[in-house]
Amino acid sequence: MRRVADALRDARAAGVDRLDAQLLLARRLQRPRSWLLAHDDAELPDALASGFDDDCRRRASGEPLAYLIDEREFHGLSLVVSPAVLVPRPETEGLVDWALELLDGPLVGLARPAVADLGTGSGAIAIAVAHGCARASVCATDISAEALEVARGNARQHGITIEYLHGDWWQPLAGRQLDLVLSNPPYIADGDPHLEALAHEPLTALTPGGDGLGALRCIVDGAGRHLRPGGWLLLEHGHDQGDAVRGLLVDAGFASVSTRADLAGLPRCSGGRQGLGQAISHDRIEG
Ligand code: GLN
Repeated sequence: MRRVADALRDARAAGVDRLDAQLLLARRLQRPRSWLLAHDDAELPDALASGFDDDCRRRASGEPLAYLIDEREFHGLSLVVSPAVLVPRPETEGLVDWALELLDGPLVGLARPAVADLGTGSGAIAIAVAHGCARASVCATDISAEALEVARGNARQHGITIEYLHGDWWQPLAGRQLDLVLSNPPYIADGDPHLEALAHEPLTALTPGGDGLGALRCIVDGAGRHLRPGGWLLLEHGHDQGDAVRGLLVDAGFASVSTRADLAGLPRCSGGRQGLGQAISHDRIEG
């Protein structure tokens, strides 16, 4: 029978990161990771050890840890994830922070601000915004019914009320007016070499094809019909798409257009405010 320490050593030798191996084994044992650290001579039942070896093989071949442990932390909340949804990324937390700043700043006067997350996937953005701003009325859309099931489960688990709508970008929001719209749409260009390393995640969540800007264009184009005057649109995009996305926003008549950097210092989110006729700061980049 193998012991905890042996199994973890074998995992390292198979190319699995130490923390990932501990999380995978803790998951198999249904114990917290801290238990492993205190019980490294505990013996592992054969079936459990061989299940752990399978996990390690899958992890070493590039499957995201989140899919193997069915879980990912986002903005302080634990979310269930499955291969039907993109694994939420830390850079997307910046979009949530920006939204919460607006809800607490320029939109603070609204008693019940209407917020939408387009292409919600696991529900990460919508749930984090609703969690951070109790007075917001949040809805979330996705074209994938499977993704909406994952998102619904996550909202339920955190006791958060979100209205889920099935459909493509703005289509399920026909006739609605919103104060704040957020999206982390697919933005990787067709043929980008990064796609290869992301092969386990849903392709439609990663790329709209073409130059990668198709979904962003569609969202900016439809915003005029759905944002109230003074409403905000915040978009995540690729690190080299800041100029293009600010251009789309300015061309669509948005004011206060700016881009924010992610934790790595790369331009990652751009946004603006719907038609109040203010001066446009096309080139402003905030840190
Ligand atoms: N909104 C989800 C997230 O940010 C899913 C995004 C997507 O699938 N492109 O994680």
